[in-house]
Amino acid sequence: MAPMNRPLLNRRLAEFGTTIFAEMSALAARTGAINLGQGFPDTDGPEEIREAAVRALREGHGNQYPPGPGVPELREAVADHQLKRYGLAHDPDAEVLVTAGATEAIAAALLALVEPGDEVIALEPYYDSYAACIAMAGGTRVPVTLRPSEGRYVLDLDELRAAVTDRTRLILLNTPHNPTGTVLTRDELTAVAELATERDLLVVTDEVYEHLVFDDAEHIPIATLPGMRDRTVTIGSAGKTFSFTGWKVGWVTASPELTAAVRSAKQFLTYVASGPFQYAIAEALRLPDTYFEGLRADLRAKRDLLSDGLARAGFEVYRPAGTYFVTTDIRPLGESDGFAFCRGLPERAGVVAIPNAVFYDHRDAGAPFVRFAFCKRTDVLEEAVARLRTLAA
Ligand code: PMP
Ligand code: GLN
Repeated sequence: MAPMNRPLLNRRLAEFGTTIFAEMSALAARTGAINLGQGFPDTDGPEEIREAAVRALREGHGNQYPPGPGVPELREAVADHQLKRYGLAHDPDAEVLVTAGATEAIAAALLALVEPGDEVIALEPYYDSYAACIAMAGGTRVPVTLRPSEGRYVLDLDELRAAVTDRTRLILLNTPHNPTGTVLTRDELTAVAELATERDLLVVTDEVYEHLVFDDAEHIPIATLPGMRDRTVTIGSAGKTFSFTGWKVGWVTASPELTAAVRSAKQFLTYVASGPFQYAIAEALRLPDTYFEGLRADLRAKRDLLSDGLARAGFEVYRPAGTYFVTTDIRPLGESDGFAFCRGLPERAGVVAIPNAVFYDHRDAGAPFVRFAFCKRTDVLEEAVARLRTLAA
């Protein structure tokens, strides 16, 4: 039994346990509560795109290993999307890489670019896979905390600047930002870009919510800023934009050198994934603008429905400029521990949410914040709001 004499899970991963999303979805299933925890839509994406996947399967497109970098149709569609939306020109052969969702793109980028001992700056609260992937790469995460100010979570540029050391390798950005719903402004991104250029840092930017921005907010890829194109790895995903989170189609766009580096790691993770779905997403990326506008309008209405309902129930609400999550502060309800609050919420109100504390190193800073997802049917959100109303009583 010698191998059992020490912990089975290695030191790098020991702190991570089970992801909060699995834990909270299991809690919803067990209690029958409405699941506003894990971020997945309860309605599938466009019928014609589902049909495109069926057609690909039937016609034998992608049923065997697709090419390592992704099928050419999808790489071309990604390149066209980046050019049309942002004016970013990418060679589909050398500068686009298809991945098994953004999750694999994040993992491959960090495993490829981080040496053991390198520091990686991440915006806190950070999406949970960032911390795990930095650890798997042997890096050290250096969180820079976004703080609420006048209804919006703000990046403190002085704090960011102070976090850079001689060991900093890269800045891991996420905009629109999960879980706070912040969309980084041009001024904020310009400051990040200047810092990256000045200190010769790479930027890995997770832009999976690029199409989910509301009101006056504008999604700006940092790769479009001066000096950034060749030091940035941009990550996208079909999951959020087309409401097919189970298909796991993501992509990287970057310079040929960065793309090749990420591909080196990616080829030993999944090698390839999602063959037939890649063809369907190639069609999805070419949907007319009305599709993207419709998605935004639908989610904007749902954001308002849920945000208003949460405010009436007594939460302080940070109405998001992007993503399909709304972060709340539970202190006006007389609560301060988001974990305990979320564990008890199914019984109290029949709803599941996510405690933002899990996305913080500074757990105290995150303790009173709780995230709710609004990518659900209107009737489901109405029922959730009615249930949450009982908290105000
Ligand atoms: N990044 C962020 C910020 C996310 O919220 C998610 C999850 N939805 C992912 C990456 C993972 O995306 P995918 O499902 O494409 O792997
Ligand atoms: N990104 C989704 C969220 O933030 C969850 C994805 C997952 O379960 N890994 O809710």
